[in-house]
Amino acid sequence: MNIHQVNQKAMEFRIDIGIKHNDPVDFFPLITNKLKNLTIVFLKMDEKISGACYRFKNQQIIFINSKHPKGRQNFTAAHEIFHLFYENPIFTICNVNSNDEVEKTANQFASFLLIPINALYNYKKENGIKKWDLNSIIDCEQYFQISHEALLYRLKNIGEITSEEYNKFKPNIRYNAIHRGYDLSLYEPYIGKNYTIGNYVRLVEKTYENGLISNGKREEYLIQSYLSDFVYNLEEL
Ligand SMILES: [Zn+2]
Repeated sequence: MNIHQVNQKAMEFRIDIGIKHNDPVDFFPLITNKLKNLTIVFLKMDEKISGACYRFKNQQIIFINSKHPKGRQNFTAAHEIFHLFYENPIFTICNVNSNDEVEKTANQFASFLLIPINALYNYKKENGIKKWDLNSIIDCEQYFQISHEALLYRLKNIGEITSEEYNKFKPNIRYNAIHRGYDLSLYEPYIGKNYTIGNYVRLVEKTYENGLISNGKREEYLIQSYLSDFVYNLEEL
């Protein structure tokens, strides 16, 4: 698959789940809503692992490193979608820096899914950006909710910034974002603990409501999927 075919796949996937051409997306709520058989498990993992995916019958499960910042977690989820929808994975674990060809293709897909080629050029035009600087880069990553590093990497790859600029713009992103009036949510975990969202929880609740499992079993399943706070009412809901 060449780069244009990967972009095409990402564009088609966006249309399938109802994202308009150049719009940014709030990724986790969107895929939880649109991909009905998907479960997302946030897990504390080694820093070097970004995530994993697993398919069981018609159910798809994505594991996300709960220690990573939201921008990277969005990217990982988009990357795992490539494995789940365009390959035949049984259980795949993905490292942050991998030179494997499939991993690189999944990264390209993730990048294009979050910002298609045209969306980036359109953003540049609409915002009158002649030359990218730290202000316009941070504005853009906030708009598309993509990590600072992923956007820099993308801009460097398409020749919009040089390697020197890449190195210059990379450090101190938290300070630089606050300094420009942004909150830090993009640079902190979306969910920073073991937790489950998506279809697994819906299935447990439905099975219980239909009388197929007892409340004890329901609670056991929820606790197994890291929702013990919910079961024991420890969180204010
Ligand atoms: Zn992967």
